[in-house]
Amino acid sequence: MADKRDYYEVLGVEKNASEGEIKKAYRKLAMKYHPDQNPGDKAAEEKFKEINEAYEVLSDADKKARYDQFGFAGVDPNFGAGGGAYGGGFSGFDGFDLGSIFGDFFGGGATSSGGQRRSGPTRGQNLGVELEITFEEAAFGCEKEITFGRIEPCSTCGGSGCKAGTQPETCSRCGGRGTIRTQQNFMGMTMQSESPCPTCGGKGKLIKEPCTTCKGKGKVRRNKTMKVQVPAGIDNGQSFRLRGEGNCGSNGGPCGDVLVTVAVKPHAIFERDGANVLCEMPITFTQAALGAEIEVPTLDGKVRYNIPEGTQTGTTFRLKGKGIPYVGYKNRGDQYVTVVVETPTKLTREQKELLKKLEATLDDDGQPKRKGFFEKLRDSFDS
Ligand SMILES: [Zn+2]
Ligand SMILES: [Zn+2]
Repeated sequence: MADKRDYYEVLGVEKNASEGEIKKAYRKLAMKYHPDQNPGDKAAEEKFKEINEAYEVLSDADKKARYDQFGFAGVDPNFGAGGGAYGGGFSGFDGFDLGSIFGDFFGGGATSSGGQRRSGPTRGQNLGVELEITFEEAAFGCEKEITFGRIEPCSTCGGSGCKAGTQPETCSRCGGRGTIRTQQNFMGMTMQSESPCPTCGGKGKLIKEPCTTCKGKGKVRRNKTMKVQVPAGIDNGQSFRLRGEGNCGSNGGPCGDVLVTVAVKPHAIFERDGANVLCEMPITFTQAALGAEIEVPTLDGKVRYNIPEGTQTGTTFRLKGKGIPYVGYKNRGDQYVTVVVETPTKLTREQKELLKKLEATLDDDGQPKRKGFFEKLRDSFDS
């Protein structure tokens, strides 16, 4: 994705930075851009998300190694998981709470909202979308249209859940706090505890006249159609991320992401091995013997290649830079062409006569494999 910044760049560290350096850089940036320090600042919030995503990858030796090798395509939670495991369940991503990550890191106490923990901002769920593309589209990237269902804020009520012209009311039971205090007598002692308000479900507000579109939920499920840029070099089963295009969050939390996993259709001629393209090329018996200029199909169209005389079947040639781009880079892998000599069939009487004449003139010096074979055979019977 062109708009996505390199994780090392995001954290402002070198590619060879140590674990400690990465951690230190993350702490410094997370402190600076944390939403509690920048209330209402959208840019800071985006930055904070970006920093967290970068740190999540670079702090994990396994993910870091994959990122170093494959770029963004290598570190998706879906990567290597095979098909099917979509629609969420990536722990650490779903329900990801900005406050709790910060708390984990800085020993808590960092919430500036007075310590009142009602239902806080919760990130929306990530969604999985599968996209079928051709071999060439995977190699060079493409623009595609995808359609998927997601939870969006209700446009009728603007997400408030209230009927037009009405407002949510402060819950009278908890006075808008979202929690109530209960007293219990336990073995002669009075125990006080706080629990979420059962009347408003911890929200502190009540909807008297719910919006008819979303029935008071403030959210609706809708089909979203959008154009996506498939990164060049992506391989079958790999995913790319559409940040913030997943389900919308709750209580002001950010939207989840969409993870698009590609299914690459097999090609008629080419196979793929990482960034390299493999193909077999049939050549004639005489081309192999005499040498020839052959036309080889590549992803960039036909190229001419000179096979030398005396080429054996199974010989592989390399066409440098004719493979597939590495994700996120300009340079490409190679193409490997394996020639297969085809023995002619359906020969005419005349052709057979010509070949017999040829056979009579061939000696074993020009066919060293054959010569070696019979020598070994003789030796093994003599001993
Ligand atoms: Zn609504
Ligand atoms: Zn209440």
